[in-house]
Amino acid sequence: MYRLVCVHCAATYAPDQIIYTCNRCGHLLAVEYDLDDIEVFRGEWDRRPLSVWRYREILPVRGEPISLQEGGTPLYHLKEIGRELGLPELYAKHEGMNPTGSFKDRGMTVGVSMACQLGMTSVACASTGNTSASLAAYAARGGIPCVVLLPAGKVALGKVAQALMHGARVISIRGNFDRALEMVHELCISHGLYLLNSVNPYRLEGQKTIGFEAVDQLGDVPDRFVLPVGNAGNISAVYKGLRELEALGLIDRLPMMTGIQAAGSQPVVKAIEENLNVLIPEPEPETVATAIRIGAPVNAEKALVAIRATGGTAAAVTDDEILCMQRDLARMEGIGVEPASAASVAGIRKLAEEGSIDRDERIVCVVTGHLLKDPETVVRQCEPPLEIDADLHSLLSALRL
Ligand SMILES: *Cc1c(COP(=O)(O)O)cnc(C)c1O
Ligand SMILES: [Zn+2]
Repeated sequence: MYRLVCVHCAATYAPDQIIYTCNRCGHLLAVEYDLDDIEVFRGEWDRRPLSVWRYREILPVRGEPISLQEGGTPLYHLKEIGRELGLPELYAKHEGMNPTGSFKDRGMTVGVSMACQLGMTSVACASTGNTSASLAAYAARGGIPCVVLLPAGKVALGKVAQALMHGARVISIRGNFDRALEMVHELCISHGLYLLNSVNPYRLEGQKTIGFEAVDQLGDVPDRFVLPVGNAGNISAVYKGLRELEALGLIDRLPMMTGIQAAGSQPVVKAIEENLNVLIPEPEPETVATAIRIGAPVNAEKALVAIRATGGTAAAVTDDEILCMQRDLARMEGIGVEPASAASVAGIRKLAEEGSIDRDERIVCVVTGHLLKDPETVVRQCEPPLEIDADLHSLLSALRL
């Protein structure tokens, strides 16, 4: 059994109500389970494959989900970068290894399954790219039409390609992500489409499983959990999930939740540094990490709680620091991620260099999306291939052999 509860005033709503914000106070809603009634057999989870659906007792979907086999992503030990930073227990959970190449798939398998369970016949989102790629694929899988709104000119090529190929109706608006989200929210309310941005409480239920998997893969709770922060849904979701494991008696402490933003788009970092409870939106967010180019994160209130309640922190990294870490992950560790994803590890590099991290800490950085999502930013950073005549002599001289 579960219900929707306002994160601000605790008003409750029936789980089958199509509602994204509290009627009383306008804040977001979260799914609340009767954890006492849930018989979770830890041993049974261990027998299931590592995936979002291993944890189905604490997910809202009843019956067969619409799935592309999401989750079960690798947790890599960052040996070389860890050595450089003096952090022997540094790990990256590679969410780029999901079906459409980002963690959004965890949210969409649950979100689109719920759309169908609730009898909705079409879905929509605003997106910096990955949400639209994922929703388009899951809507195709579920056989329902899908509308996506993108900020014109600010979405990485791979992501647009996915949304188009999976058959979404793709609309580019002359405005930023924050405006696209306002517009799609209005469209969904007025025309009955099901909204699958991270204001949707069910989508975040799927995303919380990143934390569950990391705990299962490490065999323990990490000391610190580091995520890039855009709309702040993911960091809030992971925190919520770990609180549930704690309430179920499956873990006995929480990691320090740590959010990393880009310097040109850092309202959450500012709120933490200045100890504000309400965010001051960044009117013109700008960063090469387009997935976190968000000036007014809708889940910020929850993220601030997650960071403060666990003794975590928030930090900002420059575009240069992000791109440098993207190259280091690729070349030192063999891990290919998109710029926003490198922000989490770049943030740890920065915090470690400042001396804010204990060397014994066991740290899990979520790297959120795949290298191939944004090929243009990759090509801009690398030398183009050397073109030569098709003979061995030219090859040897090109290789300087
Ligand atoms: C969506 C996304 C983020 C930001 O996640 P939020 O939940 O919006 O904070 C970060 N990185 C990538 C690759 C994403 O697709
Ligand atoms: Zn409320």
